[in-house]
Amino acid sequence: MVEVTPAAEGRAPLALTMSAPRRGKPPRHFADLGAAERTAALTELGEKPFRGKQLATHYFTHLTSDPAEMTDLPQEGRTALVEALFPPLLTPVRTLTADAGTTVKTLWRLYDGVKVESVLMRYPGRATLCVSSQVGCGMACPFCATGQLGLTRNMSTAEILEQVRLAAQALARGEVAGGPGRLSNLVFMGMGEPLANYRAVIEAVRRFIAPAPEGFGMSARNVTVSTVGLVPAIDKLANEGIPVTLALSLHAPDDALRTELVPINTRWTVDEALDAAYRYFEATGRRVSIEYALIKDMNDHAWRADLLGQKLTDRGRGWVHVNPIPLNPTPGSIWTASERSVEAEFVSRLRSYGIPTTVRDTRGSDIDGACGQLAAEEGP
Ligand code: SAH
Repeated sequence: MVEVTPAAEGRAPLALTMSAPRRGKPPRHFADLGAAERTAALTELGEKPFRGKQLATHYFTHLTSDPAEMTDLPQEGRTALVEALFPPLLTPVRTLTADAGTTVKTLWRLYDGVKVESVLMRYPGRATLCVSSQVGCGMACPFCATGQLGLTRNMSTAEILEQVRLAAQALARGEVAGGPGRLSNLVFMGMGEPLANYRAVIEAVRRFIAPAPEGFGMSARNVTVSTVGLVPAIDKLANEGIPVTLALSLHAPDDALRTELVPINTRWTVDEALDAAYRYFEATGRRVSIEYALIKDMNDHAWRADLLGQKLTDRGRGWVHVNPIPLNPTPGSIWTASERSVEAEFVSRLRSYGIPTTVRDTRGSDIDGACGQLAAEEGP
């Protein structure tokens, strides 16, 4: 991408204007700091390192970054200290609710004016947050709203974690229909390809699961990382020793069609992606999810269900389940969701191979729950 601002035009040497856009980094935030960086930041601010534990407790346990709530810190200089370490990274632009208030979608503006969204879905006994990991996405899947935006930039760990903290805080404070509750699940199914922003995403996962006061203390089993199938990154994730659930966005069992739906398939084929998913299962013991958006007359044929069933059972039994997702049509797209009867046939064919198959519920589709749609509509 080349950005030429009017001011730069005719001034900057060509080499400079042609280089990748120099996007600044989000302001320093506590949640981005490792132990040594935290100590250094506190020392620089004239504070003792033990303040780090107090601040971590406020942030990860009390879910606050408001100095007024940090009454165990000395009043003198408290606001300055907190403001230096907890700059506001996310500003709500729009909030939409559906399902009697139990689905809440928020469009956030980041420090540099770009927008991302997250969706909180509350069910009896659990609450799942769908987070964004990139501003836009570079994977260009034609049926996905975010895919049409292109990639603007990666999000930082703190930007990812702020989505989590703010949702957990809203639940804890009883601001979501259903009374006070806690956030239990995290899915990287918002905007972006999480494995293309590996370092920030894995650090966010570590903070999500780290026990108090260094993290939100949630279970790795309740985290799902969804990917188009970046094979080396899947293998890397398998070796982290963090048993998150891996979801592979397959959408077609044959290369000809998958290349059309998920263009990165030209780099890693269906078989290579499935082999990596199987290795992930072997390494972690976690059953892998296969995501399959059912698109009318595109990928919903019975023979494709059979081919998928065959390819999955060829690799083993009990290692995988399939999540067909009724396509959420994006504005301007010619594609629609499959007919109910076609969907039912697709599911029953897969089940006949002994593959657990559950159609994803389409929560929030009336508020453009298919992530990316809201940001696409809102524009820059
Ligand atoms: N980049 C990651 C996360 C994307 S969003 C990935 O591709 O896995 C999570 C899931 O929603 C993916 O499986 C994606 O293919 C799917 N998805 C995107 N747009 C959709 C739409 N319009 N209808 C249904 N599912 C969609």
